[in-house]
Amino acid sequence: MIRLTAPVVLPCDPACSVLRDGVVDVGDDGRIAFVGPAPQAPAAPGPVHAVPGALLPGLVNTHAHTPMLALRGAGGDLPLLRWLHEVMWPMEARLTGADVRDAMAAGAVEQLRAGTTTSVEMYFHTQAVLDAVVAVGSRVLLTPGVIAAPGWDRLGTWEQMRDDISARIDADGLTTGRVELGYGPHSAYTLPPEALASIGEHARARGALLHVHVAEAADEDAVARASHGSVPALLDELGVLDGRVLAAHAVQLSDDDVALLAARGTAVAHCPGSNAKLAAGIARVTALRRAGVRVGLGTDGPASGDDLDVWAQARLAGLLARVTSGDAAALTAAELLLMATRDGAAAIGRADLGALEPGRWADLVHVDLDDPVFTDPGDDAQLLSNLVWAGGARLVRDVWVAGEQVLAGGEPTRVDRATTTAAVRALAARLRIP
Ligand SMILES: [Zn+2]
Repeated sequence: MIRLTAPVVLPCDPACSVLRDGVVDVGDDGRIAFVGPAPQAPAAPGPVHAVPGALLPGLVNTHAHTPMLALRGAGGDLPLLRWLHEVMWPMEARLTGADVRDAMAAGAVEQLRAGTTTSVEMYFHTQAVLDAVVAVGSRVLLTPGVIAAPGWDRLGTWEQMRDDISARIDADGLTTGRVELGYGPHSAYTLPPEALASIGEHARARGALLHVHVAEAADEDAVARASHGSVPALLDELGVLDGRVLAAHAVQLSDDDVALLAARGTAVAHCPGSNAKLAAGIARVTALRRAGVRVGLGTDGPASGDDLDVWAQARLAGLLARVTSGDAAALTAAELLLMATRDGAAAIGRADLGALEPGRWADLVHVDLDDPVFTDPGDDAQLLSNLVWAGGARLVRDVWVAGEQVLAGGEPTRVDRATTTAAVRALAARLRIP
């Protein structure tokens, strides 16, 4: 058992409380045993580690393709479908498992340095992604990609991709250590309806998360729109929305689509940065939240995102919600912080992450408060406002996952950052299309 103390603890409870002179006790099982102000804390259970800033839960990145790190910046001025067909897919065809492992390791380090402890990943070369995450010590909900699109058959048919996931879950269970497995059917435009229906059945039978791109760009789902009215309507007709579903992007939604997602309990991974960069549009976050849809934040892959910074997504989500609604209170700093943490965990169906509460995993971030962005750190509202609107990733100093320190003073404790960076640079040089 260890005790962390800090002048400020942000537990990310529903009220987004600010605790002063706070204590977080972490049990030997890696879960939180106590959170509260020091005067209410039990006797110190073991070593005390005093951090000088604020402690908050690790951020949850609800939509990423982190191994695309080596493709960052490629085809950066193309719309979604041309970007995929002309640049991304040809480059990705040259990625080996070892490449994916190197890129995922560098990306997991980048995410820890931005305070993200859990990412929901959709990618290929499943074992390589898992090996990288286990090496770095972060947490992942990996939904291996299932796709039937030009060139991707080199990795097998969609049935084989589906069965590989099911076999892994049937052998080892949904969760092993810091890894949870789910299903990542890519989208309604890269899979036939029977594939979506079947993958939905496999996921439901195992209680697994199904993570799918939904209605990202206007032209992408023209077929689904013509035949079924919308991508959500198509997925619902196939029974897919009956399970535990995370819809990534969900930009092109009608009022009926919003109501349908709410009725089915489908969650949304909001990716405002990627949606803006690919000119896909602005998701209707305030309408989704008002309807009761769980909404988390996602960076998307670093090739479209372009960074892996959930703080930046929170800020952009707030700015876009305000400019589209004309309401200067559309998303408050507290609401944005909760979207990055507690709501993100809820969106992926993980009540054991995203907040500092007894029983949840001790995934913790220490952010520096000794920075001029904090104009009045003694005032709760001002502290939250400065942290979200002006602070963010660059203030992250230390990170713990399941009570183990995996980032110390900005450097990963389990791997060497110079090595992970050099590997991804060498990979990028090799992938570059002359
Ligand atoms: Zn994506």
